[in-house]
Amino acid sequence: MTAHGVCGGCDRTWTAERASHCPRCHRQFSTDSNYSRHLIIDAGIVTGCADPTTLKHPLEQAAGDVWRSPSGSTPAHWTRITPTSQS
Ligand SMILES: [Zn+2]
Ligand SMILES: [Zn+2]
Repeated sequence: MTAHGVCGGCDRTWTAERASHCPRCHRQFSTDSNYSRHLIIDAGIVTGCADPTTLKHPLEQAAGDVWRSPSGSTPAHWTRITPTSQS
């Protein structure tokens, strides 16, 4: 049996290794990054969940009820940050 995640607050389970499930709104995200993007953070504290479709760079709901970044439209600021202090 492959490892999978369970929420505890809903019936949802998932098998994708990188899937990230929100324990607040019970949405399923394709990556931790997309999960983080829907969080409403105030002074470093998560205060709630935003509708992924209303984000500045909205996520799209893919098959299986998984929220992911629209393919081919990765925001410019979302590209990898190159560490400059790496030695
Ligand atoms: Zn949420
Ligand atoms: Zn859940």
